[in-house]
Parts: sequence; C-alpha cells; structure tokens
Amino acid sequence: MEPATTFRVAIAGGGVAAVTAMMALADHSDGRLEVDLICPAGDFVLRPQLIGAPWGGPPLRTDLAALADEFGAHYRPTQLERIEAGACPVVTSDGLSKPYDAVLVATGATPAMAYPGVLTVGLGGLPDALARPGRGSVAVVVPPGTGWTLPAYQLALLVAATGEAGVRVVTTEPRPLEIFGTTASGRVADFLTSHGVDVESGRHVAPGSQEAAELADHVVALPTLHGPRIAGLPFDADGFIPVDEIQRVRGLGAIFAAGDVTAGSIKQGGLAAHQAERAAMAIARMAGMSPPQKFDPATLRGKLAIGNDELYLRRSLADADPASGRDALYQHSDADPGTASDRPLWKPAAAMLAWRLSRWLDDRRRALGGDPLSPIARPELPSAVMGTKTSELP
Ligand SMILES: Cc1cc2nc3c(=O)[nH]c(=O)nc-3n(C[C@H](O)[C@H](O)[C@H](O)COP(=O)(O)OP(=O)(O)OC[C@H]3O[C@@H](n4cnc5c(N)ncnc54)[C@H](O)[C@@H]3O)c2cc1C
Repeated sequence: MEPATTFRVAIAGGGVAAVTAMMALADHSDGRLEVDLICPAGDFVLRPQLIGAPWGGPPLRTDLAALADEFGAHYRPTQLERIEAGACPVVTSDGLSKPYDAVLVATGATPAMAYPGVLTVGLGGLPDALARPGRGSVAVVVPPGTGWTLPAYQLALLVAATGEAGVRVVTTEPRPLEIFGTTASGRVADFLTSHGVDVESGRHVAPGSQEAAELADHVVALPTLHGPRIAGLPFDADGFIPVDEIQRVRGLGAIFAAGDVTAGSIKQGGLAAHQAERAAMAIARMAGMSPPQKFDPATLRGKLAIGNDELYLRRSLADADPASGRDALYQHSDADPGTASDRPLWKPAAAMLAWRLSRWLDDRRRALGGDPLSPIARPELPSAVMGTKTSELP
C-alpha cells in the first residue's frame, strides 16, 4: 500500500486566530497533517484582559509549546519574516527557509498611539491610579475608524466602579456600541449610565491632535491598528492582507490569512476565530480531508461586566461581497436588529468568544489561576470593583 502523503501546514501567529486554526486542523485531520505553529512570543495571552490589569492583575496566559503539543502541532519559537509564494510556498524565519503545502498567516495587527503622550491600551500597562479613589476625571477616547469599540466601555466601567463621578467615553459612534444595532445600543447606554459612565458620542478627536490629552485628568485611548506588511504578500494601504471568501490571500493559491491581520474594519477576537475556522476548513479540503461542509455564520458577540452585573450583546453578520474590497468581509445583517440581555446569550459566557479556545480555557481555569471568561483576569479579588491595589491584598 502507498504510504499516505504528509501535508505540511505553517500557521504564523500565537493569538486567537492561530490557536483556533491549530485546534480546528487537529479536529479535521485524518492524521496526515503536519502543523508548525510559528510565533516569537512563547505564550498565548488573553488580550481583552489587558484593560483589567489595575483591578485583576496581568492577563491570563498559557504556554504555546505545550498547547501546540496537545493538538499535535510543532511549536517554532521564531518570527515569520517573508513568504515566497508558489505552488509550495516557502516561509522564512530566523534565516531559515522551509517549504509548506499551505500557510496560514495570523500575525494580528500592530497597535499604535493615536494621540501623542496619551496612555494607549495595549502599549504599556495601565496605571493602578485608575483603580484608586481620588483619581480625578477620566476620559476613554475611541479614535475615529475604530471598528471594535467595546474595550473603551469596559475600561470606563472598571474605572467608574470606584464610585466617583467624572468618567466618560469619547467616541465618534452616534450611540454607544451602535454596531450591535439601535435597540441593543439603547440597553448599553442605560447600563453605562447606571454604572456611572457618561458617553460623549459623535465627537471626532483627530489622531495626532493635542485635543485628547486635554479631555480629563487621566486620558486613555484605544490604539489605531496597522497591518504588518509581510514581505511577499499583498497588503492594502494600512498594511492589512486582502482575502477571499475562504480566507485565501487574494491571488495566492495555498496562502491563507485570518484574524486582525486581514483587511476589514472589525478587528475582534470572535471574528478572528470565525475566520480561522473558515481557513482551517479550506486547508483541510486542500489536503484531501472532509471537514464539515457548513458552520455557524459570523456573529458579533460582546460582553460588558462589572461587579455582579453583565450585559450580553449579539448580532448576526452577513458575508459581504468580496469583490467590494476592503472593509467588506462582513456587513450587518438587516435581518437581525441585534439582541441585548443580562443573561448569557452563549456558552461558555466568555467576553471574547472563540468557542474551541474558550472551552479549552474554561476547562483549565484552575491551572490558569483566574477566570478566562471575564474581562479581568482575577475578578474574585475585591480589587475588581473596590479600587484596592492588587499588590496590597493579602
Ligand atoms: C483591550 C482589548 C480588549 C478586547 N476585547 C475584546 C472582546 O471583548 N471581544 C473580542 O472578541 N475581541 C476583543 N479584543 C480584540 C481581540 O483581542 C483581537 O481581535 C484578537 O486578539 C485578534 O486575534 P489574532 O489572532 O488575529 O491576533 P493577535 O491576538 O494580535 O495575535 C497575533 C499573534 O501573532 C504573533 N505574531 C506577530 N508577528 C508575528 C510574526 N511575524 N510571525 C509570527 N507570529 C507573529 C503575536 O505574537 C501574536 O501571538 C480586544 C482587544 C484588546 C486589545
């Protein structure tokens, strides 16, 4: 009998998209897939928990080598530098070149400071002062063009939990979290008001301007996001990779991309996972395997949580016409006006739902030492809402 041919896959990245694709490929594989996970960072980090650090400590993280091992992949602690496209694309990293049958690029977006001198989420830590009484006024600014604005509202809720007034979100959105539809957005507005957060909507604070720094005693901004401009791949004006409806890089047969690295306005973990599922299915088919024909349509999910109060938001997205170009991977489905509920609308009830990964993390919460479903890593600490420095707790 002929020996079965191995099909070699490189996944570049170690975030939600890369890990989801690795898990999905392990699920679809008939044993012939040989998967390398290429990432310079040794850990998967729960990025939504970056904003919760002053209240619940640093974000939860998990070792990528061990994770890869569990899913039958091989972890390569190096960086994707360049891809030489062709029938058998070659990935180069750390001076080494290796050919693969398929490549998935999931290297995320690069955050940049939108306003000079303003604290920026994801670029350095947030100060403990935000969690302390007597902190003064706080403005959380959403730069124009930000597709996923929820972290600004979650951060404002945490800051307002000290009980002091003067916390506001400044955003270009006409209504808070308008992306979930008008009805859900109304619920968000009520939730924010009841927890002491004001919203200044429809305000455009131009990137690069000094205006942001003068908005409050403490100003925190969301970052602007840029694509990594990987050599050998096409990219748009912002450096993001254009993909087709199965996540294939436009014009390149065996190269796929998923997550924040792709062109599209909504940079969000749930959608990154959705794209990774789609790419993994296409790669498995290329390898001659038979993954399921269909999977859930793209859905935007968001969770705001403070103390014992939670608000779950959900809205279906429709695939847009890929020919319409950048920003068009998804669009709102007119059929779904959006849903808001104070009860979980999905399981596990993660702030960032990537179902394979969220289930895996939820099952290991003890080993992780925190709550992987929450926007703060260790919400059981009283510091979560009382403003006590984590380091001062017994
Ligand atoms: C504060 C905050 C709150 C958020 N809240 C939510 C939320 O509530 N819900 C939600 O769905 N989303 C949320 N998001 C968005 C979500 O975190 C991102 O959309 C998601 O992480 C994107 O996943 P990704 O795998 O595409 O990229 P990333 O998570 O950015 O991962 C990219 C990976 O690629 C690696 N890498 C980079 N360059 C290279 C290279 N050259 N070679 C190899 N590897 C490389 C990086 O080390 C990293 O491991 C939030 C983000 C932030 C910052």
